Formats: sequence, C-alpha cells, structure tokens
Amino acid sequence: MTTDRATTGGAPAAGEATAIEVTGLHKSFGALEVLKGIDFTVRRGEVVCVIGPSGSGKSTLLRCVNLLEEPTSGTVTVAGTEVTGPDVDIDRVRRRIGMVFQSFNLFPHLTALENLTIAQRRVLRRDRAAAERTARANLARVGLSDKERSYPAQLSGGQQQRVAIARALSMDPELMLFDEPTSALDPELVGDVLAVMRSLADEGMTMLVVTHEMSFAREVADRVVFMDGGVIVEEGPPDRVVGAPQHERTRTFLARVL
Ligand code: ADP
Ligand code: MG
Repeated sequence: MTTDRATTGGAPAAGEATAIEVTGLHKSFGALEVLKGIDFTVRRGEVVCVIGPSGSGKSTLLRCVNLLEEPTSGTVTVAGTEVTGPDVDIDRVRRRIGMVFQSFNLFPHLTALENLTIAQRRVLRRDRAAAERTARANLARVGLSDKERSYPAQLSGGQQQRVAIARALSMDPELMLFDEPTSALDPELVGDVLAVMRSLADEGMTMLVVTHEMSFAREVADRVVFMDGGVIVEEGPPDRVVGAPQHERTRTFLARVL
C-alpha cells in the first residue's frame, strides 16, 4: 500500500465552515480497489447520510475520515486540519471525531458511567469529578440517567448503543461518524437510538451517518450520498436522492431497501 498525496495536489486547509473535506480519495486493499476517487464535503452543522449496497465502500470511507484506514491517495481534511498531511498527530485528530459502530464495543466489565469516564480520564486527563459530571450530562442526553450503574450485559442493545453514543459525546467531539448504528438492533429498539441521533442533529451536531434507515435519511439528513462500487453515484437533498433518484443504480438500490 503506497501513499501518494502529492499527485492529488494536497488541498489547502478548508475554511471554518467546512467540517470534512474529502478530495480524490482512493483506498485499495492489496489488488482490491474499494474507494475509486471520492470527493465530498460536509459543512459544519450538516447531517449527511451515506447509503448504498453492502460492499460499496461506506465503512471504508468513514474509516478513512478518522484514519482507522490510511487512504491510498487523496486528502481528508477535518475541521481545517489535513489529517492525511505529513506530521499530523493522529490521536489528536481522532479525539475530535466521535465514532459509533454497529457493534457497541462497550467494556463489559465497566458500568455505563465508567464506560463514559475512562477515556475522558486517560485521554483528556480529566479528573474523576469532571469526567463524571460530563458522563452524567451525556447519559441524561441519551435518556439513561437511571442506568449509570448498569453493566452492558444488563442493558438492551438499544440502551448499549445509546451508552456508546453518550461515550463518544463525552469526549466533546466536533463531529460524529455513525456506521450503521441501528443495524444490529431488534426492530423495536431502533426508534430510541434514532431519536437520540435526531436530537443531536437538532442541537446542530455535524454528523456523517451510514444507514439503511431511509425514513431517518429523509427526515433528518440535509444531504444524502448514494455510493455504489466505490464511487459516489449521486448526492443531494433527500427529497431528490431518495424521493426522485436520477440514476438507475440508485433506483435499483432503493427498490430493495424501501
Ligand atoms: P460497506 O460498508 O459499504 O458494506 P466496506 O467499506 O465495508 O463496504 O467494504 C468494501 C469492500 O472492501 C468489501 O469488498 C470488503 O470486503 C473490502 N474490505 C473492507 N475492509 C477490508 C480490509 N481491511 N481488508 C480487505 N478488504 C477489505
Ligand atoms: Mg459497512
């Protein structure tokens, strides 16, 4: 895997209004080219939903934004810092980005409250009182104030995912990435998680959300991006991309998921 940013021009740092800027992003795993030139921008406060078939590269795109994967070429700029640039402090970048996965990845041996305080204490060096204050505020935000002493196994999947969201929020992220946050949940638990995400959007959080929840995309997203085969096929307001797609590939996909 080579990293060749020079050929793509190394975009200058984006303005304050830009939360994420991706230009000419390619990602290969060995001979498999998964991202084939992605360009897109997420403005501050915007909610962008990424939809598309399994294997189209959605997770890889998210993982390139917070450098869980190193792009093969192209640039990623987050809040004015080119994270693909030389000498970038990856840990510092990641600290500014909250990430929520399909699997909740909570520490099973820690209570909900402890799951929220551990990274604050270790990474942000907050003292116990400050970390617990932030943790309690965020458990309240996701409607789980009464569960601070519960262990993950004592919580439903939906509650665990809400703890995972509260944990990400406790790091005071500038933006949040969600990768199919409701896909592992029983259908009756999906609504509570989506409601938390909707309230975050209402508060003005910048969010990049991979989801198959088309009603969420239609009602909450400012923009929807449809990916297929490692490229963005179309993007635009949800009424257009989901409501009146221009491309046959988008129509075929939507016919399967709607
Ligand atoms: P999506 O999230 O849209 O389902 P992914 O980004 O997870 O798609 O995967 C896109 C393609 O990249 C798939 O063919 C997948 O098998 C491949 N892929 C993803 N991660 C890796 C990896 N670490 N190594 C090899 N192939 C990978
Ligand atoms: Mg995925």
